[in-house]
Amino acid sequence: MMRRPLVIGNWKMHGNLVKNQALLTRMVPMFNHLKQVDVAVCLPFTYLFQAQMMLAGTSIAWGAQNVSQFEEGAYTGSISAMMVRDFQCRYAIIGHSERRALSHESYKSAANRFMQLLNAGITPIFCVGETDAEKQAGMAETIVTRQMHAALDALEGNWLAEAIRLNAVFAYEPVWAIGTGLNATPEQAQQMHMLMRDLIARRDAEFAENARILYGGSVNPDNAAEIFAMPDIDGGLIGRCSLDAEQFHQICMLAGKPENVPA
Ligand code: PEP
Repeated sequence: MMRRPLVIGNWKMHGNLVKNQALLTRMVPMFNHLKQVDVAVCLPFTYLFQAQMMLAGTSIAWGAQNVSQFEEGAYTGSISAMMVRDFQCRYAIIGHSERRALSHESYKSAANRFMQLLNAGITPIFCVGETDAEKQAGMAETIVTRQMHAALDALEGNWLAEAIRLNAVFAYEPVWAIGTGLNATPEQAQQMHMLMRDLIARRDAEFAENARILYGGSVNPDNAAEIFAMPDIDGGLIGRCSLDAEQFHQICMLAGKPENVPA
């Protein structure tokens, strides 16, 4: 098993040209030495060009926080996967719970976004996770299974091969843990990651072995090490702490610690 740790910063709707310039200028030299971990930041669409200009040739990749479920057409205000590709994004987050909740994105549309990204050659970061009410009702596994199936069931024929080729990423983000300061325990997260890997393995064993499954939800420099030490947790999706160069760097270092890198 050789999965390289991956840490993604999700900047959400934060930043502006001046602040981004300052943050990325600090980050670039800081992250240069980080060789055993893949790092990326996902910015608002309007700053993808800035990220491309500042991060090309560095050890930090960049990505988008969503893409349209459609390829092209009369969808005012939407941004397609092909448009994002123009800025050489390596990744795009899709199915984030904030989009599911605030913009009513359905399971089906998350699956469509997955396909649009594969079609554009961009690695999807497909987010799943139960709400607090679903957890209290004992439905966490059922919900995550349903969300995973929405994407996996769409991967027929060549699409599965493309998902494997681009090494599609999955992220377990319990909604009750996002932005709340309440992280899942490492054991809780590990259990869900194992379930997710098992669901992927039912489609393709090699895909399951290689796919990185990230944990997201109130990861910080104090809890990152024990979370990343779990065997099926291959890194993190980081919200709040990704806006602080030092904290994000510390989290990335913990993901890349030799004892956490599979031999
Ligand atoms: C997220 O937005 O994906 C996230 C995990 O946020 P935070 O780290 O702030 O909980």
